[in-house]
Amino acid sequence: MRAFTYTRATDEQAALNAVFRNPEAKFIGGGTNLVDLMREEVERPSEVVDINALPFKQINELPDGSVRLGALARNSHTANHPLLRQRYPVLTQAMLSAASPQLRNLATNAGNLLQRTRCYYFYDITAPCNKRQPGSGCAAIHGVNRIHAILGTSEQCIATHPSDMAVALAVLDAVVQVQGSNGGRSIPIEKFHRLPGDTPEQDTNLGHDELITSIDLPALPFATNSLYLKVRDRPSFAFALVSVAVVLELEDDKIKNVRLALGGVAHKPWRAHTAEQALLGASATAENFRQAAEAELQTAIAYEHNAFKIELAKRTIVRALTTLAERNLA
Ligand code: SF4
Repeated sequence: MRAFTYTRATDEQAALNAVFRNPEAKFIGGGTNLVDLMREEVERPSEVVDINALPFKQINELPDGSVRLGALARNSHTANHPLLRQRYPVLTQAMLSAASPQLRNLATNAGNLLQRTRCYYFYDITAPCNKRQPGSGCAAIHGVNRIHAILGTSEQCIATHPSDMAVALAVLDAVVQVQGSNGGRSIPIEKFHRLPGDTPEQDTNLGHDELITSIDLPALPFATNSLYLKVRDRPSFAFALVSVAVVLELEDDKIKNVRLALGGVAHKPWRAHTAEQALLGASATAENFRQAAEAELQTAIAYEHNAFKIELAKRTIVRALTTLAERNLA
């Protein structure tokens, strides 16, 4: 591990100043991903700025009925909070499906969004990897790519984003609040993570000197009927091969509102707008669910070992929608 300076920020401005003056500095919260990456020398910050003393640990309801998740609230606390359990079950389910209880007790909400891909080659510093070392190539495209992306890939990178939480946030239209040297701004979750394109080294649109302060969940009454369905190789402590987050509102048997996102299939949580358009106003039948899934996966590209994900994604969409529709009509 590269030697680094440890700085403990006592307030927001001190944290921002420390990272602004050092382009090689990184914020650290729970450190559940960053420390691993530093041990493997994938990340080599010259300074880590500990932000755990900052006042971003609360979960509160705001006057407009939205819910604010503090950036430094731990994943276990967030997942089990009564406001989330009642109003946004998809988020609770996604967060409880992630990692181990020990990791969830330490990992922060902001860190969850900022965790990096689990592509094997990204962690192997002897392998070519455009995300770790721009311009070096991508070992996964012609290598072992069973866990890799099928949507939104580029010739530079086919990695997936590993977060379950972010997939649920995508269907809830969450907004990431950030503070930077030049002031604050709000980033809709759909614009927070990036597709790889020609710059796979950039996972998000967050600036180096920007700090996440909270993640806001808009009031969404029909989100009480929501579900996170995760398919993985073993029942715990495994990343999604494919996951589906759904929020569904029916009127009689017709779909009045639907939001759908996929995890494990792209470089970012994949909001399934094509499927949503196909479903709006349609009857809640297995045939219509399958047609919507087919439409969404039309642009999918398979690599040598991950073709199974295309059919798996379609079936997981159908199963998630069917489960929620049956619950709604019961
Ligand atoms: Fe690196 Fe992306 Fe290729 Fe994996 S898929 S080796 S992260 S460039």
